[in-house]
Amino acid sequence: AKEEGKNQYRFYDMTLNPNAKESMEIASSLRRALEKDEFLVYYQPQVEARSGKLTGLEALIRWRHPAKGLVPPNAFIPIAEETGLILPISERVLQLVCAQSKAWQQAGLPPIRIAVNLSARQFAQKDFAARICEIVEGYGLNPSCLELEITENMAMKDEMQTVLQEIRDKGFLLSIDDFGMQYSSLNYLKKLPVHKIKIDRSFIGGISRDRKDEAIIAAMLNIADRLGLTVIAEGVETREQLEFLRANNCHAIQGYIFCKPQPPEEIQEWLRRSNI
Ligand code: C2E
Ligand code: CA
Ligand code: CA
Ligand code: CA
Repeated sequence: AKEEGKNQYRFYDMTLNPNAKESMEIASSLRRALEKDEFLVYYQPQVEARSGKLTGLEALIRWRHPAKGLVPPNAFIPIAEETGLILPISERVLQLVCAQSKAWQQAGLPPIRIAVNLSARQFAQKDFAARICEIVEGYGLNPSCLELEITENMAMKDEMQTVLQEIRDKGFLLSIDDFGMQYSSLNYLKKLPVHKIKIDRSFIGGISRDRKDEAIIAAMLNIADRLGLTVIAEGVETREQLEFLRANNCHAIQGYIFCKPQPPEEIQEWLRRSNI
C-alpha cells in the first residue's frame, strides 16, 4: 500500500509539476553516468578544534557531467533518492572511498578515517550491515576506517535500532548528521548506539549573531559531553565561530575556515603536510 501511494504521488508530480520533465531527464542521465563512471568523490578535512590536527575526512560525491561540468550533490541526490538510483550510486561512492583509502595506505600515508553519507534507502536494506562489510573487506580494509553518517529521521525508527547496533558491532563508527534539524527528541540520544553528532551548519551560522543559536549549541555540547558523545561542528567559516566552539569544548571542526572539499590529489598534500 505504501508503494502504491508513492506511485500515485509520482504520477501527480509528473502531470502538474513543471520540473517533472527535467527530473526525468536527470534520472536518465544518472543511469548513463553510472555506466560511464562519471561520479567522483571530493574530501573535506575534519580537524581537532583545539589543535587544528587532522582527525578525519568527509567523502562528498560530485558528478562530472560531460556538458554541465562538476555538478553538486544537491542537484541530483534528491532525484536519485526518489528513483532508487541512490542505491547503485551509493555503492559506487563506497567503492571509490575504499579504493582511495587503500591507495593512500599503499602510498605510505597515515591511515585516516573517512566519513560517508548514507541514504535512507540504503539503510532500509535488510542485509545492509553485511553488504557494507563485504565491500570494505573486499578492499582489505577494516570497518574502523569508515564512519557512517545517518540523519535523525533515519535513526529514530524503532526497527532501525537493530541495524544500527549491527553496524556498530561490526566496528564502523556511527554519527548523526545535521543534528538538531529534524525531530531531535533528546530521549533518542539515550537509545541510539552512535559515537558522534554533527551540529548542523544552520546553528553555526548564528554564532555571534543570534544568542538563541549560541544557547542551543552550548546545550548540545553539554548534553553530548554528559552522554559521552563526540561532537563535530560543520560549516565553520569564521574566526568568531571557531573561538566560540573552542570555548564551549566542541571536539572537532569541519568547514571552509580550514578547508573546502577537495579532489583526492589535493587532500593527499593535506595528509602529507598535517603529519598525523
Ligand atoms: P552534508 O552531509 O551536510 O555535507 C556537508 C555540506 O556542507 C557539503 O556540501 C560541504 O561542501 C558543505 N560545507 C562544508 N563546510 C562548509 C562551510 O564552511 N560553509 C558552507 N557554506 N558549506 C560547507 P556538498 O558537498 O554540496 O553536499 C551537500 C549534501 O549532499 C550533503 O550534505 C549530503 O547530504 C549530500 N551528499 C553528499 N555526498 C553524498 C553521498 O555520497 N551520498 C549521499 N547519500 N548524500 C551525499
Ligand atoms: Ca554529511
Ligand atoms: Ca551535515
Ligand atoms: Ca546538511
